Amino acid sequence: MKIYNSLTKRIEEFVPIREKEVRMYTCGPTVYDYPHIGHGRTYAVWDTLKRWLYHLGYDVYHVMNITDVGHLTGDMDFGEDKILKRALEKKMEPMVLVERMTDAFFDQMFKINVQKPDLTPRASCHIPEILEVTKKIIENGYAYVVNGSVYFDVERYMRDYPYPEFVEMDLSELEKVHRVEPIPEKKNKWDFALWKKAPPSHILQWPSPWGYGFPGWHIECTVMSAKYLGEEFDIHGGGEDHKFPHHPNERAQAFAAFGKGLARYWMHTGFVKINGEKMSKSTGNFVYLHEATEKYGGDAVRFWSISSHYRRQVDYTDEAMEAAKNALDSLYLFVQDLEEAGGGGQKDPHREEFVKRFEEAMNNDLDTVNAVKALFELRKRWYAENLFDKVSEEEAKKTYETVVYYGGILGLELDARTYRRKLLERYSDELLSFIVDLRQDLRKEKLYRYSDEIREKLKEMGIELMDVPGKTKLRFRK
Ligand code: AMP
Ligand code: ZN
Repeated sequence: MKIYNSLTKRIEEFVPIREKEVRMYTCGPTVYDYPHIGHGRTYAVWDTLKRWLYHLGYDVYHVMNITDVGHLTGDMDFGEDKILKRALEKKMEPMVLVERMTDAFFDQMFKINVQKPDLTPRASCHIPEILEVTKKIIENGYAYVVNGSVYFDVERYMRDYPYPEFVEMDLSELEKVHRVEPIPEKKNKWDFALWKKAPPSHILQWPSPWGYGFPGWHIECTVMSAKYLGEEFDIHGGGEDHKFPHHPNERAQAFAAFGKGLARYWMHTGFVKINGEKMSKSTGNFVYLHEATEKYGGDAVRFWSISSHYRRQVDYTDEAMEAAKNALDSLYLFVQDLEEAGGGGQKDPHREEFVKRFEEAMNNDLDTVNAVKALFELRKRWYAENLFDKVSEEEAKKTYETVVYYGGILGLELDARTYRRKLLERYSDELLSFIVDLRQDLRKEKLYRYSDEIREKLKEMGIELMDVPGKTKLRFRK
């Protein structure tokens, strides 16, 4: 498989450190709010990558952190802690907020068919490890202590290592980025915090050799990825916003502490925009993931997430979501037609070609766009050549299973039974009241033979109908 490596800015052959195993870390959510559509897309991409690596025969060990402290509103070292700010607004214990938002995150991930990572460590549970690594960085001469805070000495580090990787920036550009710099105690504007002194009002704080404080945002990922995956592992992923400052800083801390730079392959997803604009809560140009999954269904959101190439920015619009839903519906119909196909004697002339195209696409830097195209091309040919009656039952079954299997790699649950079950679940109440009303109509017409048959059949299923004046009551018995 080939992967675009943001570190070398090239497409490279993917060769994991261990022969049969891929160790992968993806930066997790800051759990101060419900997940938004951008989270949905980014994590659907990582999930697709994981499923593809499994298909290639690797065992994947996936770690994703939960940021529950240290990510400040300014995204740099100033502003308020996002978790603390929201908890105070809601008059909630910060860790209760964290727990709820983490649950909400995984609930939505489940809706878009994203498998849970093997391990989801929380920053606040790794303070001793964070302090150890911070001490090491100071000892190695790459960080300094001022007024109870610890800062990474970027200039000192740049004498030994390149910085900031992933983006082309020299010191004058770094200077521009840090133009507004409200922390005068730093030696240089571009230095970043490993540990921040906490004022007494800041309730998320821990004791440290430098007094009470809390960790900077970037250190948690260096510490937890190295702890669980080793100082050198295979893949590290995040959204494109992490190209600066988060990932260069994670990597700089790792070199400064261990002399190793964490992952070999660094991958970045393109951002989700809404109606062509940056997502922003203050202007209302913002969509929570649950809003999207409730409106269009988790499967359509998943399909939309992987219908564009992961490195591209993607625009969330109602039209795009409707189109994704319709396209997915046509795949579901195809699978249902495949399920009932057979009776002729032909082979499927297109299955092998489909598999080849799908695999080529996925091996080419996870090109899900062409993988999806291959699925639709297969569908098109089956209808154009009306293969449903021409192929043998065995062949139809093979194609059915192939489509379901490869759809599954994209996170789509195409198999006809799952689809039926989901649909029936969604409409079970409507379906039942329709049958009850129909039975009443039959009774009015005095067609008791049929109305009684409906009652008996439902009773067998544990659904009892009781006629009382003016209506029919339902009782369910297991
Ligand atoms: P956060 O919750 O902001 O810490 O982000 C968690 C992950 O989601 C990171 O990998 C971010 O890069 C990614 N992310 C945040 N916003 C977006 C967005 N609008 N589009 C795509 N990915 C995003
Ligand atoms: Zn991170």
